[in-house]
Amino acid sequence: MERVIGIDLGTTNSCVAIVDSGTPTVIPNRGGYKTTPSMVAITEAGKRLVGHIAKRQAITNAENTVYAAKRLIGRKWNSSQVKNAVLTSSYRIVEGPHGDVRIQLRDKTYSVPEVSAMVLQEMRVIAEDFLGETVSKAVITVPAYFNDNQRQATKDAGQIAGLDVIRIINEPTAASLAYGFGKNLEKLIAVYDLGGGTFDISILEIGAHGVFKVIATAGDTFLGGEDFDARIIDWLVQGFKNQHGIDLRQDRMALQRLKDAAEKAKCELSSVKETEINLPFIISSGRNEALHLQQTISRATLESLCEDLIDRTIDICKQTMLDAKLDKEEVEDVVLVGGMTRMPKVQEAVAGFFDRDPCKGVHPDEVVALGAAIQGAALVDDQHEMILLDVTPHALGIMTFGSLFEELIPQNTTVPTSRTKIFTTSRDNQTAVKILVMQGESQQAEENEMLGEFILTGLRRAPKGQVEIEVTFEINADGIVSVSAKDLETGQQQSIQVTATSGLTKDEIKQMIDSAKEYMVDRRSSEEFEAAKQEAEKLIVEIERLFPQVEVVVAASDFGREAVNKARRILRDAKAAIDSKDATAIKNQIEALARTQRMFKGVVTKTQ
Ligand code: AMP
Repeated sequence: MERVIGIDLGTTNSCVAIVDSGTPTVIPNRGGYKTTPSMVAITEAGKRLVGHIAKRQAITNAENTVYAAKRLIGRKWNSSQVKNAVLTSSYRIVEGPHGDVRIQLRDKTYSVPEVSAMVLQEMRVIAEDFLGETVSKAVITVPAYFNDNQRQATKDAGQIAGLDVIRIINEPTAASLAYGFGKNLEKLIAVYDLGGGTFDISILEIGAHGVFKVIATAGDTFLGGEDFDARIIDWLVQGFKNQHGIDLRQDRMALQRLKDAAEKAKCELSSVKETEINLPFIISSGRNEALHLQQTISRATLESLCEDLIDRTIDICKQTMLDAKLDKEEVEDVVLVGGMTRMPKVQEAVAGFFDRDPCKGVHPDEVVALGAAIQGAALVDDQHEMILLDVTPHALGIMTFGSLFEELIPQNTTVPTSRTKIFTTSRDNQTAVKILVMQGESQQAEENEMLGEFILTGLRRAPKGQVEIEVTFEINADGIVSVSAKDLETGQQQSIQVTATSGLTKDEIKQMIDSAKEYMVDRRSSEEFEAAKQEAEKLIVEIERLFPQVEVVVAASDFGREAVNKARRILRDAKAAIDSKDATAIKNQIEALARTQRMFKGVVTKTQ
């Protein structure tokens, strides 16, 4: 049976898991870490770096290192979130050809799905290395709050990475799957997920026979660990300005160092009460004198700097409970997800709100990927009976007269679903009506996400308000939205299937898939080369070390001299193969090198 990997594509870190002989397991990367930074960089030499190696060089190559691409995925250039990211990111965010967002790294611009694809490709390689086989199917998780465009863009990223994304599931749903796996529970739980960039709260009902039903979900795609880091950065920058009159924000490298130090201090403050931030030579005073930043920060300071951020998450929890028409007491367990839930103040706030200690049994960094792997296994194996009942995270509706948003399907409606509403014309003798399909919670249509549009023509001429148009919204089990409009009198009908766009055309995606494939071939062959080179070099060093002793011993016989000359030739050919950077040529020499090394060792041992 084909393996399916589960990938938690996080804002800060990503994680990959698999169900191995019935047990969900997280796959560590080569460094032994179970999570990999969702960072991508291009070096001066044009080399692509992903994960820990990208993170390690982020300070010295800040402009060409992308972090938190998830905040940009599926967003439009003119959105306020993107405008904000343009101002605060150390890498360059530029406008794409379709009003989408692109990232400039050295002399090339990349779409956001392409950057995310690089991270996904890395996760795929981690899994393939571990399993020793190729993997092509994946379940990828997204925040429950992602809109259709963001989901589609994530799917495109998977496709670019050469993965067949068999399902996109919501992170909290995945977390609840991992939480409930094999336990046969019937419980109402809350999943509080505070990650690097996003916040989500979901209330789920785990029912008999593997039914996982989402009751309500809400969140904020621009609220997470990065905001906590930003508060520390602001505090440090202000302190430095007061002390030296210099604004550290002017210097991209200083800013990147601050960012790193702020995150590190924040994490440390989860286990200690006070920590020191020490950044020597952070900037020059302008009088040829280097300035250092040294500051002690306490847990209490961090908590007061971030109090309102934590409060915002609790406000969303409150609202969600109201939407779900549930009492806090009815929630039987609280599952914490995301690295930020390690912060004691966050745990305290959640425990305070739900009036119970959160569940300790799940690992906040791994639970989402594990859930994705469980869902992946269930999709290819009929034996695992599991039903996920999700809800629409956003209201769906149309724009009506006066740019108002008229809701047809409310937020948190279980899918699949369908709703119908009657509208009337707004002008006399109006013969056509444009239907703008939108997703969001604002009453002002333009503040919501536009999903698509179509025109219903051939309406009967009549005074305004007298032509009735029936609009039907339908969402199927895959979350695909279709909308139709019908003139009730003439029966004239128009409909569209709302296909979310990631901002990329089919051709662009195809091109990106090709170049990602090319990269994989290059990468695999360079890995093959490195492995062969290392093996050959080890043998060369060993032979050269033994050479003087062997030469002395065998010098007396013609046969011995011939053997030594042959060894010299083998060494020369092996070195030439290494210089030519040809993995196959090196591999061809390894056998001869190994034979020589064995022979040399034999000679030396005999004479000792
Ligand atoms: P995630 O997106 O779930 O990987 O969460 C990453 C976020 O969690 C980042 O903002 C991290 O800085 C933060 N984080 C990780 N470990 C800790 C910790 N021990 N204390 C506080 N925050 C942490």
